[in-house]
Amino acid sequence: MLTHNWTVGRKLGVAFASVLFLFAGVVLLSVAQINRLQKSSELLRSDGLYKSSLARTAQSAASSQVAALYSLFFLDQRDARIPVYRAIDQNKSKFSQALVELRNANSNPKELAIFDQVQAAREHFEAAAGATYDEIELDPMSAKNVMVNQTVPQLAELEQRLEELATSQNQRVESEIAANGEAGEIAEKLIITFGALATVIAALSSYAITRSIVRPLSSAVQFADDIAQGWLNSTIPKTGDGELKTLLLALDRMRLGIDAREKHISVLAYYDPLTGLPNRTKFHQQLSAKLVGGAAQIHEISVMTMNLNRFKNVNDALGYEAGDALLKEVGKRIQAILENTHGMVARQQADEFSILLPVDSTHYATDIAQQILVAMSEPINIAGQPVDVEASIGIALSPQHGVEPDRLLLCADHAMQAAKLTHSGPVIYDPIHAKGIKDNLTLFSELRNAVEQNEFVLYYQPQLCLKTNTVLRAEVLVSWQHPKRGIVPPDSFIPFAEQTGAIRKISRWVLEHVCILLAAWQQSDVKLGLCVNLSARDLTAPGFLEFVDGLLNKYRIDRTLLSLEITESAAMEDPVQCLHTLKRLRELGMRLSIDDFGTGYSSLSYLKRLPVAEIKIDKSFVLNMDNDADDDKIVRSTIDLGHIMDLEVIAEGVETAASLQCLREYGCDFAQGYFIARPMPVDRFENWLKEQRKST
Ligand code: C2E
Ligand code: CA
Ligand code: CA
Repeated sequence: MLTHNWTVGRKLGVAFASVLFLFAGVVLLSVAQINRLQKSSELLRSDGLYKSSLARTAQSAASSQVAALYSLFFLDQRDARIPVYRAIDQNKSKFSQALVELRNANSNPKELAIFDQVQAAREHFEAAAGATYDEIELDPMSAKNVMVNQTVPQLAELEQRLEELATSQNQRVESEIAANGEAGEIAEKLIITFGALATVIAALSSYAITRSIVRPLSSAVQFADDIAQGWLNSTIPKTGDGELKTLLLALDRMRLGIDAREKHISVLAYYDPLTGLPNRTKFHQQLSAKLVGGAAQIHEISVMTMNLNRFKNVNDALGYEAGDALLKEVGKRIQAILENTHGMVARQQADEFSILLPVDSTHYATDIAQQILVAMSEPINIAGQPVDVEASIGIALSPQHGVEPDRLLLCADHAMQAAKLTHSGPVIYDPIHAKGIKDNLTLFSELRNAVEQNEFVLYYQPQLCLKTNTVLRAEVLVSWQHPKRGIVPPDSFIPFAEQTGAIRKISRWVLEHVCILLAAWQQSDVKLGLCVNLSARDLTAPGFLEFVDGLLNKYRIDRTLLSLEITESAAMEDPVQCLHTLKRLRELGMRLSIDDFGTGYSSLSYLKRLPVAEIKIDKSFVLNMDNDADDDKIVRSTIDLGHIMDLEVIAEGVETAASLQCLREYGCDFAQGYFIARPMPVDRFENWLKEQRKST
């Protein structure tokens, strides 16, 4: 349509202009028509009256002439007749005058023809009247004859002609007036028709305009309502043009703006800005959605909580930027593993991640968790430096462990804490873990008091020198003499003590007692060294070096008699700090040993820089070296490796004569294990030592 691209203003303008134009036309036309009719009727009327009065004047002039003629018959004296003749002449000229005027006033051919007859009749009448005057003067009797036989009939003839003329003129006026009436009717019809047309056009254009405004307006309202309802995928209505199209386009821009902003808000509300992973809220939402479908679902759900073991150290040693980079990489690695599993990972807080996984079996969940742990144990490159982070994962399953999101998350968290303590892969939730948490709280307050209450006891396990077959040193192992639980072995509380920081007090207690014992032995000439286990926490504890130095000075101990064992993984936790502390300890004159060697992922180049005198092959390799060829190879090559690096080598976990024999053959320097002796309290150990020295 032509008007399709017109603006509403233009449409309204054009519509109203045309309506006005039509009305103006109708008004002007009517006025002109009516004026014309009025004028023509007036003209006709005056023209008709004028002409008929002229005809009547002529008629009366003729009649007066005849009357004058009659009066002549009664006047015998010639002198008396003269004024009559004068009157007759006046009438004649009056008559002529009227005829001239009639002639001039008539233009109608029919009336002109009648006028010619009037003219002819007048001439005949004048001739007859003239003959009558002449005879009156000559022969009045003959004059009477002429009068009766010629003049009077001629007058009648003339009168009739004049009557005809008047009648014809009247008829014409009448018919013209009638014609005017018809024209009036036509004008009326025209006015009605144009008026109706104008009304129809006005009605049609107002309908069209209303339609072109109201329809798009109501679609615009509907569109705006949709946006208000949050249906932001609604498409812009196709109706409307001009200003309305502009309005709809503006609404559409508003829709797109709201949509973009909503998406942005949802990203802020549901995603973790650092890793780009879903956040705690989103995870909760997804978990709830999965659980609502509960009974209808064939698959079970697994919720995992993962926590990094050494995240704080990375933050402390390398800074928050490194920590952030690490968390991003951790997120990516988990996502890569979950790629084809329909699982999702979210970052809960700090270094804690949650994983939601549809599972067929507990086996499957454990398998995925295991894959994640393996991925976490691969060093992560941060700013060109490989960083070791290990993780702990706890698994809760629905419906077994619960059907509510919070409950499942709590179970997964308890299981994760158990995993942190055991350090042996993912842990599936067991109600005992919840109890364990409560126990831990009690344990925590109990441990705090244990040092002050002197509840720890030390056990000593000899280390045999394989070259001389003598015992030169013993390892000191701590146990907790719990007032209610009895003897608690170190594996049951040391990891917890490390987590809570209580280990620092325990280490100081152990070191002090070891120094007291060494000092006592020095006095009684017992020549024996002692090895104390240190934890990673001790190496970073402020004032630790000063404390050790203070002890050695206080008890005046031969510093070479004190050895310190640091596990390989502890040395890897914070390599820079560890290297620094170990160097200082070495400077203080102590002998250092790497414990549990072979279980960490330390690089040889790093180990080479550590100021240690000894490596201790982990008992997991030694225990099985009799039966397992691989373990045997590992033990043998570790011994060679230690020697290549100019280090002494000790094997722990020697339980059999065969393994001891092998170690001797492989050139191992020292051996420790149940086959030689179990860890013993001090008095029993001193007795054992005496027996031993006697027999050799
Ligand atoms: P570790 O340093 O590797 O200590 C050796 C562990 O192996 C001791 O367990 C010891 O009893 C055990 N063992 C020795 N010979 C044999 C053997 O022939 N066969 C077997 N199966 N085991 C043997 P224990 O006393 O339970 O200590 C466990 C761990 O607790 C220690 O492992 C050490 O990491 C930690 N620990 C013990 N005392 C202390 C301490 O005073 N401070 C610190 N930080 N940790 C300690
Ligand atoms: Ca040890
Ligand atoms: Ca060990």
